[in-house]
Amino acid sequence: MRRLLTLATIVTLGIVAVLAAQSRQAPAGTAHNGKAFKFNKIADGIYHAVGSGTLAVVGNSSFIVNDNDVIVVDDHVSPAAAWVLLEEIKEVTNKPVTTVINTHFHFDHAHGNQIFDQRVVNIIGHEFTRQMLLNNSIGMPLYRNYVTGLPGQIDDLKKRLATESDATTQASLERQIAVAENNRAAQAELKPTPPNVTLTDRMTLYRGSREIQIRHLGRGHTAGDIVVFLPREKVVMTGDFLTAGLSNLSDSFPDEWVASLNELKKLDFDTVLPGHGDAFTDKAKIGYWQDYLRDVWTEVSRLKQQGVSAEDAAKRADLTKHSAHLPINGPGVPLIGVQRIYALIDQRTAAR
Ligand SMILES: [Zn+2]
Repeated sequence: MRRLLTLATIVTLGIVAVLAAQSRQAPAGTAHNGKAFKFNKIADGIYHAVGSGTLAVVGNSSFIVNDNDVIVVDDHVSPAAAWVLLEEIKEVTNKPVTTVINTHFHFDHAHGNQIFDQRVVNIIGHEFTRQMLLNNSIGMPLYRNYVTGLPGQIDDLKKRLATESDATTQASLERQIAVAENNRAAQAELKPTPPNVTLTDRMTLYRGSREIQIRHLGRGHTAGDIVVFLPREKVVMTGDFLTAGLSNLSDSFPDEWVASLNELKKLDFDTVLPGHGDAFTDKAKIGYWQDYLRDVWTEVSRLKQQGVSAEDAAKRADLTKHSAHLPINGPGVPLIGVQRIYALIDQRTAAR
């Protein structure tokens, strides 16, 4: 009997091990104090996961708890952040994560992919997202700027700590240093991992009564952004195709993005779960972002035509008229976005 029980235990443990969504060993940099995520419940089984600040996670994720499984949309900035997300999801449900969806290839949305056991987990993304993560996504300026900036950030925090006398500020700086050092350790283990299931236009997952549409609405924030649309619950997860504030332009097609956002307007949803910022219901934000995109293109093109360098244009481009609806405090556009628009104009001029 005892032998039988032991055998049953081994078989059970074996099945559990095979079904575990993530690799068995925790990656570097997972240490943190207190919950790393705030899970905002949006509808039955639908959560928007926003970082609390105790661990570097950068972008938001969402997850969908179905009858028998869990689907995760975006997996943050590092294997460590994705690992901790899964640990905290286990406090909500013991159902297995079977599916991860990458809204796009950027580091703050897809750099957790490597922790998932691809024998049991499908990682879904646009074909372009796969190509970027297979090839040189970490050589692109957005990630290079981010990762090469980390040591300097840590040094700055340490310098501030050395001269700080207020105990509360000291404690806050110490926390920020710990978070940044863990992130640096986590980035050192990064192995960009592409989706193993791709789409170019649309795909639909069915889970019981739940329908989960994955839609590419045209080029915009990148050439391969997708949104995850739940028609019954009227929820859409937009990644950085539409955020609560400004999206970065480093790999964007600003003029095409305006048209792609018109396609988003056609979907029947009430709630947006963005890749940055809190969930919102105000659909007017789509129009505010379209207006900004039109104007940033016009303004930066005007400066380029005048022979202004990208560096100076980044300081001078004035989008302050959008400050009522977007977090803009004065003239200036991130240099990486200006460089992108300059490059697009040059490519189009050359192609003519
Ligand atoms: Zn992002």
